[in-house]
Amino acid sequence: MPPESSPPPVRHGLSPEYAQLRDTVAQFAREVVAPVIGAHYEAEEFPYEVVAAMGRLGLFGLPFGEDVGGMGGDYFALCLALEELARIDSSVAITLEAGVSLGAMPLDRFGSPELRARWLPRLTSGEALGAFGLTEPGSGTDAGALRTSARLDGDTWVINGSKAFITNSGTDLTEFVTVAAVTGPATGGRPEISTILVPSGTPGFVVAPAYSKIGWCCSDTHGLSFDDVRVPATNLVGDRGRGYAQFLQILDEGRIAIAALGTGLAQGCVDESVRYAKERQAFGRPIGDFQAVQFLVADMAARAHTARLAYYDAASRMLAGEPFKREAAIAKLTASDAAMANARAATQVFGGYGFMNEYPVGRFYRDAKVLEVGEGTSEVQRMLIARDLGL
Ligand SMILES: Cc1cc2nc3c(=O)[nH]c(=O)nc-3n(C[C@H](O)[C@H](O)[C@H](O)COP(=O)(O)OP(=O)(O)OC[C@H]3O[C@@H](n4cnc5c(N)ncnc54)[C@H](O)[C@@H]3O)c2cc1C
Repeated sequence: MPPESSPPPVRHGLSPEYAQLRDTVAQFAREVVAPVIGAHYEAEEFPYEVVAAMGRLGLFGLPFGEDVGGMGGDYFALCLALEELARIDSSVAITLEAGVSLGAMPLDRFGSPELRARWLPRLTSGEALGAFGLTEPGSGTDAGALRTSARLDGDTWVINGSKAFITNSGTDLTEFVTVAAVTGPATGGRPEISTILVPSGTPGFVVAPAYSKIGWCCSDTHGLSFDDVRVPATNLVGDRGRGYAQFLQILDEGRIAIAALGTGLAQGCVDESVRYAKERQAFGRPIGDFQAVQFLVADMAARAHTARLAYYDAASRMLAGEPFKREAAIAKLTASDAAMANARAATQVFGGYGFMNEYPVGRFYRDAKVLEVGEGTSEVQRMLIARDLGL
């Protein structure tokens, strides 16, 4: 496994450990994910057997310490795995991304020793999934305007409110959601926000039916509601009133992971287009002989490469303990633009077949859009970059 906290050597290629991990996940994606994911996608099913195999491979434990059942790797290792999975399928990649960076990471970073010991080993093994509930029907980008409330009644939190678009919140493996809630009156113009772990099945906690989505069709997404939901005071994750700062930190890191996922989708478009351009004949020759097709593919390769360098750089800074907010936003913006542009170009290379669900590029087209929205819209990334430049 990659050594803990050693920055990836961006300019001189990957270390042997990182390269081995990347190759192992690439092989897994080709041999285990690719053969079955199209059917799950069309049926809009959560791919349980694929997620179980990802757990056995140790992917859910990649960036966690061995004390909680993890592999002792780092966040860059997770990103490499996400890129390789997303080259084949983004629903599987987002299930891992959300399970690790939104489900388990807040507990690892901020949870009490009791909460970490109780939940993390099941998350790092992939036996269970946790979800992260920040977005609400009335607040997404403006996350600080959330309305869900939690008040202390003796040694119990009483939670009321609702959440929207929560990934991994309704699978058979889901064991809790960490909920961001207002826990006290505003001081300095902003309400006191804290995060509280709510186990699945707690009375009053209702998971709505899964959304019907245009993409990520094997990923699990639900709205949630909380009606006088009571959990122990000890389910507070981190310090009371620190919820806002905590989720900003989690989302900064998550942007690098989403950038890796977008890079994988962009690269998957290159892989599929090169293969198809060599096979497909028109006017007595492979369409890859036409310069118009070559240029489409060359531009795709340039975008995927640029996106990869951007996320390698952001991850490298993060692991070195340097500021990385601007670079993470640049990576996420670059990779989601690359994914969208490449999905459009790849479906063009495939002609009419690009519009058929039978081919992966159709899935790539449907899956790319959400990368411009989830974990901070492209407008938010631009705002973060501009703010970091002093504007
Ligand atoms: C499939 C999926 C899975 C998700 N999973 C999760 C999850 O697990 N947990 C979770 O908490 N959330 C999750 N989300 C929510 C996601 O993070 C939000 O959708 C996203 O942050 C945008 O919020 P919104 O949808 O409310 O859009 P809004 O905030 O209403 O934005 C609408 C538009 O207005 C723009 N806008 C808003 N404010 C500004 C501004 N100040 N300046 C310029 N433009 C602005 C936005 O960029 C966007 O174009 C998920 C979303 C999806 C689609």
